[in-house]
Amino acid sequence: MSAHRVVIVGGGFGGLYAARSLGKEPVSVSLVDRRNFHLFQPLLYQVATGALSPGEIASPLRYVLGRNRNTEVLLGEVVDFDVNGRRVILRDGELAYDDLVVATGATHHYFGRDDWAEIAPGLKTIEDATEMRRRILDAFERAEREPDAAKRQAWLTFVIVGAGPTGVELAGALGEIANDTLRHDFRHINPAAARILLLEGADRVLPGFPPDLSAKAERQLIELCVRPRHGARVTDIDSEGVTVESGGVVENIPTRTVLWAAGVRASRLGKKLAERTGAQTDRAGRVLVEPDLSIAGHPEIHVIGDLAVFTHQTGKPLPGLAPVAMQQGRYVARLIVKRLRGGTMEPFRYFDKGALATIGRHRAVAQFGRFHVSGFPAWFLWVFVHLMYLVEFENRLLVLVEWVYNYITRNRGARLITSGKS
Ligand SMILES: Cc1cc2nc3c(=O)[nH]c(=O)nc-3n(C[C@H](O)[C@H](O)[C@H](O)COP(=O)(O)OP(=O)(O)OC[C@H]3O[C@@H](n4cnc5c(N)ncnc54)[C@H](O)[C@@H]3O)c2cc1C
Repeated sequence: MSAHRVVIVGGGFGGLYAARSLGKEPVSVSLVDRRNFHLFQPLLYQVATGALSPGEIASPLRYVLGRNRNTEVLLGEVVDFDVNGRRVILRDGELAYDDLVVATGATHHYFGRDDWAEIAPGLKTIEDATEMRRRILDAFERAEREPDAAKRQAWLTFVIVGAGPTGVELAGALGEIANDTLRHDFRHINPAAARILLLEGADRVLPGFPPDLSAKAERQLIELCVRPRHGARVTDIDSEGVTVESGGVVENIPTRTVLWAAGVRASRLGKKLAERTGAQTDRAGRVLVEPDLSIAGHPEIHVIGDLAVFTHQTGKPLPGLAPVAMQQGRYVARLIVKRLRGGTMEPFRYFDKGALATIGRHRAVAQFGRFHVSGFPAWFLWVFVHLMYLVEFENRLLVLVEWVYNYITRNRGARLITSGKS
């Protein structure tokens, strides 16, 4: 009899951890991804700000799963599902499954203003990160050559929309670039004169963290000359600037660099799955899953990570975080094997190990249950945790060396303007 076929769509945190957990089991695993690498998204902002190079935070899936003899890695884009025929439809083929794990994650959401995407890039892929890096570095170059004071200031104004962890990390890194990394590099401008505005619609930065940590994060941002603004709603963005409404006052901020860190929307496959299975989705297009992460009426289809809405633990959806996706990946792998052996599993439970956000050198906030930490200890923890979770030993070593070098020299070695249209 041929082995039980498990198809995993997506080699991000959820899909990769599911595949790894199935590596020694008596099943046949096919992992399909439209990219040939696993991307460590939590460090994307370091690529966007020239601290790390793309290859240091990405690992070839074929290499990572190379030792799993029961696993094949397929480069391909999934476009649809035939749930009755139990087939995954690729852009250029199809794959049969007995169990299906869908882990295609999320993408940016511009709240109905997709035209802003061109002007205000988000941060989700390597291409996004190198494009952000290009825009940030190019802005300083343009300012250096700009004779007109108002235009020069527009080049030196950076607006980050969204003060969640990604927005805060980007703003902090920009603060360091302006005040530290570039301080001796220009002759006609003072990079420290850059205005870095962090806009947030809620009433504080890091709204997902407890208020005391938000306040500490805000203080640390201000130390880096970042100007956080709460209750600020972006109403328009164009190539000349950003329009913001705050407390009934509308303001136009002239800027050439807007970075988007505000909303996320589920991958399009969520909608497809819902159409094919009758599953429900939330407003962000994420698929509502059962307590065992399957789709109602389809115990053989499992949806995990950023694509899933799991509300069975607290009544609220679990956050879109890497540990959630990793734990869900491991859970579905165990579930599939147990069921094959005729067993059952307890519902999925997320073990929350805490939350971290870094702001810059020696600056971070961390929450572990009732324990709230900020400053150097939180930053040190952040460094340790991120090194630990990088997928390959080789990448851990490379990133460690780069960080130590950057720490000593205060440099950012990957300050390259490599792509771009202008
Ligand atoms: C900038 C940024 C910073 C973050 N920082 C943190 C952090 O500090 N801590 C934290 O815990 N979390 C962080 N996150 C969130 C975390 O990265 C996600 O929660 C996690 O990646 C979700 O894992 P996933 O497997 O669901 O999806 P992903 O990791 O996004 O993986 C999805 C995979 O599916 C593939 N795919 C998509 N569509 C298709 C298709 N149609 N066909 C084939 N393949 C497809 C993609 O190529 C990708 O490899 C951050 C996210 C971002 C974007």
